Amino acid sequence: MMSVIEFFKNLPKKKCQQCGNDIHEKADCYGNICDECDHPAR
Ligand SMILES: [Zn+2]
Repeated sequence: MMSVIEFFKNLPKKKCQQCGNDIHEKADCYGNICDECDHPAR
């Protein structure tokens, strides 16, 4: 049986749907958009 750590290590890196940048591991609620795209510059 695969350990939880191995499972997450094998997950493909998330990429931002808008800019294509890699998304660092965060809460899933961020979806497929990176921090910058999720919080437009003000
Ligand atoms: Zn982005």
